Amino acid sequence: MRYAETGFNLEIDLSRGNIERVETDPQETELYLGGLGTNAKIIWDRVPPEVDPFSPENLLIFSAGLLCGTPAIGCNRTIVSTISPQTRLMAFSMMGGFWAPELKYAGYDKVILRGKSPSLVYIWINNDKVEIRDASHLQGKGAVETADLIQKELKEPKAQVASIGLAGENRVYFASIEQGRSSASRLGIGAVMGDKNVKAIAVRGTKDINVARPVEYFELCNEVLQYIQFRNENPIPGVMTILQGLGSPQEMATHDEKWHTENFMWGNSRLRRKEFWNEDIEKAWTQTMENMRTRLISCYNCPMKCGATISPPGLPTYMMKCFSKLTYTMAAMADLDFGLRIAQQATEYGVDGFSTPQVMAFALELHENGILTDDDFPGMPEDNEGKFYWLLDRIVRREGIGDVLANGTYWAAKEIGKGAEEYAHNTIKKHEQLPLKLSMLNPIYFLMYATGEKINITQIEGQFPQAPWPTREEREEFVKDWIQVPDEKFKQYLLDWELRGEKSIPYYPTVDMCCDIVDWQERMHYIDDALGMCAGLSSFPLKPPYHIHNYPKFISAGAGIDMDEEKLTQAVKRYRTLVRANNIRRGMRRKDEAPPKDHWKKRFPELEKELLDTYYKFKGWNNDGIPTKESLHELGLDYVAEDFESRGIYAENGDTPSPETSAEKGKEV
Ligand code: SF4
Repeated sequence: MRYAETGFNLEIDLSRGNIERVETDPQETELYLGGLGTNAKIIWDRVPPEVDPFSPENLLIFSAGLLCGTPAIGCNRTIVSTISPQTRLMAFSMMGGFWAPELKYAGYDKVILRGKSPSLVYIWINNDKVEIRDASHLQGKGAVETADLIQKELKEPKAQVASIGLAGENRVYFASIEQGRSSASRLGIGAVMGDKNVKAIAVRGTKDINVARPVEYFELCNEVLQYIQFRNENPIPGVMTILQGLGSPQEMATHDEKWHTENFMWGNSRLRRKEFWNEDIEKAWTQTMENMRTRLISCYNCPMKCGATISPPGLPTYMMKCFSKLTYTMAAMADLDFGLRIAQQATEYGVDGFSTPQVMAFALELHENGILTDDDFPGMPEDNEGKFYWLLDRIVRREGIGDVLANGTYWAAKEIGKGAEEYAHNTIKKHEQLPLKLSMLNPIYFLMYATGEKINITQIEGQFPQAPWPTREEREEFVKDWIQVPDEKFKQYLLDWELRGEKSIPYYPTVDMCCDIVDWQERMHYIDDALGMCAGLSSFPLKPPYHIHNYPKFISAGAGIDMDEEKLTQAVKRYRTLVRANNIRRGMRRKDEAPPKDHWKKRFPELEKELLDTYYKFKGWNNDGIPTKESLHELGLDYVAEDFESRGIYAENGDTPSPETSAEKGKEV
């Protein structure tokens, strides 16, 4: 019997209209867990680097995490993987909500789409009955509207629908997939869905999921629930509001936006407004939020209520998530009312709330600087907010300049030329990043930015505090009940970390400590993404209920896989390396592993080199970021080494590990 997982994938060949229920190999679950882990293996096996993002051979995989559908609190993530049209690398984007548990209850762990449908369709998964249905009547409809129409058409209000809007249909490189109370937004996976001519996937399931040792499992779940209650009642002192508790990250409940509005950049990630937040703005924004926010809502089986339904006067209600509350407002230098209104339109169109505002502000910056002219913006309104609505519309329709902008700032700048590339300043691996520009290099964030392959900084950080508390007493207080650390040494790292002086950034934490910290943070995110756990209860906040010590118990009691911390760490290392292997095979190298040039004002090239050299070695990668034959062998990934050899990847720069470097050396810079 299979536990936690169903043991079946749904394979749909859209070109042929063929649907198959395929039994999976339980050994693959032991090696790669599920969700992102097994997705990475499938992409490795079936999507070689010759396959372009918009090729019929590209796969689009919707995977429920390994523990989704079990009673584990907050375990509801769908991990969507494909090859990104924007980065041309493996993309994996998460959506919360209700879709993944519903898929499990219908009897499947993954839906794997291949080929291309000759016309627009949607897929209806109703337990064992799976149909490809005509969606011509849904062409051009909004993502939320589509979900409503499909539920009505199927007479199934409980069907969970993942859908794309016009942006996905038109293959906008930053198109999202929207699902009820969440979305998978990053890296243009909605464009791949549109390219496959799939408007939506609706799913309804009424079966059970087996848990290996139910009594033990329920006890673990109860402990998590009790911890959530404890943390809610005992917020962490001395950190910004959104880091005090749990969730992802409670943006809808809080009205204190001082930190975001004064530290994140406005416009095209250019302008910091240090004195922005004042009493009048707080009053006005609180009123706007309270007038439009109709209720706080949670994802499946979670008490946290991170999302909210927003009902702007005269517009349909939509679901607002996370930081998209501010991205449009800040890009347009407008107020919250504008941001909440345009986000309704953007959600219907199905676009990423981080990339889209930046792309629009980038276009206006090019216009202001004469690189684009009035001829590129025929009919654009004069007023600032009107310009943003106009641009959004052109982009999702790929009309005129919108067709160029729809490829994101990196590709648009290349196409526009005339110096436009200088203005596309906020990308990593060709993808728009958080609009943050800071002063002093932070070595931990440098490594996360440079080497992260999720290519989304908000989902790499967590666990280790972003900055030290000013006094040792405060730090001592914090480490007292810091049970989440995988090793006691992390407590000492924090205790000795100071805001200023010898033990402060950029030389403290030391290079070796930074490697440990980044590796721990990344490990937690990758575990979440295989199990289907929300980062808001695990890898993102400080002191979360899920951590490296109780996760093996969840996997053992839930999935019946004999698991301990060491085995779990090894499994994560295996599929994390496989994600990298997919990208190395697609040409990603050290040259691509760089934060935006202007992310920090004060840079330290020698230290940055040492950080990367040391981290590569720590991870078992050679000097160019390629996993070595030896490290692949240790992980049971000899097949990757053989593929690299046959493609001549090692011949480029040998299979030598990154040379040992000392943390002390950086101090001489
Ligand atoms: S913590 Fe928030 S985002 Fe995460 S599952 Fe719960 S409600 Fe959803």
